[in-house]
Amino acid sequence: MIKFDKGIQVGDKLLIDPHTKRPIENVLISHAHSDHVKINNESKYFFSKETKAIIESRYQAVENSKTVAFGKKTNIGNVDLTLENSGHILGSSSVLIESDKTIGITSDFKTQNSLIQTGAAPLNCEILLIESTFGIPTFSFPDRESIYTEIGSWIKEKSKKGFVVLAGYSLGKAQELTAICNEYAGISPLVHESVFDNNEVYKNSGVKLGNYLKLNHNLKDSPVLIAPPTLVNHNLQQVLEYSLKKPVFTALATGWSFRSSYDRIFPLSDHADFPQLLDYVKQCDPKLVLTMHGYERELANYVSRRLGIPAKPLAKKGQKVLSEF
Ligand SMILES: [Zn+2]
Ligand SMILES: [Zn+2]
Repeated sequence: MIKFDKGIQVGDKLLIDPHTKRPIENVLISHAHSDHVKINNESKYFFSKETKAIIESRYQAVENSKTVAFGKKTNIGNVDLTLENSGHILGSSSVLIESDKTIGITSDFKTQNSLIQTGAAPLNCEILLIESTFGIPTFSFPDRESIYTEIGSWIKEKSKKGFVVLAGYSLGKAQELTAICNEYAGISPLVHESVFDNNEVYKNSGVKLGNYLKLNHNLKDSPVLIAPPTLVNHNLQQVLEYSLKKPVFTALATGWSFRSSYDRIFPLSDHADFPQLLDYVKQCDPKLVLTMHGYERELANYVSRRLGIPAKPLAKKGQKVLSEF
């Protein structure tokens, strides 16, 4: 039995990626992005060791917890399951559940390899619960290598004329930008404190990001700064231009393309785009597909029309649950 009730509930003793601090015996956290992490004092927590390291560096220590190795079957709350790399950020996991039916839960995932992570492999399952963040054909991203080359040459060109600010989520994207700066522009960037802390966790887990400097009254030490998008605005640009006495160029790395005040948007995402989603479903070859997040209905329609596999959004609390179909 699987349904959505303030998280993905499997049976009555396991909740995956809770949206509230609802106490339930066992909680599995797929990865350390804040929308997937809710900690209470009553539950026992399960995650990969990398996810634990990020959670403890970013949020809080989790006393009652156990780390689960990738590819090793384990039993949590009477459910046999295996965590697999989801290719989204460091430590991010997909979940393969073996009950009367095998259920694959992608959580946030991508299949492309990146400079700092390998992509997700298909889950061999009868029911596939797949995220549908970019579940319409509009979202089709160029291959990563060519985006890297483009970002690298943009950085090199703009940093000759002025100062460059790269905006990207502090967890996942900012680490990739750090590595791109080093490898594709030959520059060690300054990084905002929140980026620095995550960079350190990646580095301690053995991921090569190249060199970087923590931003600390040292603006003249590098022509590039990496910061979270929430901090990169017109004000920051003006302050930097005033103190550095040179033009400041800004770019945002994101899968969402929209009009903005950035000089450039690079379509770099940690989620599967539409072609990757359909390809992934094909490779997993399930009998039923359930969608969640973003374009749920749309992706379910495309899966059933184009691949001929029954598909629908995951039932929410109050709707019929899977076992009733
Ligand atoms: Zn995420
Ligand atoms: Zn998410």
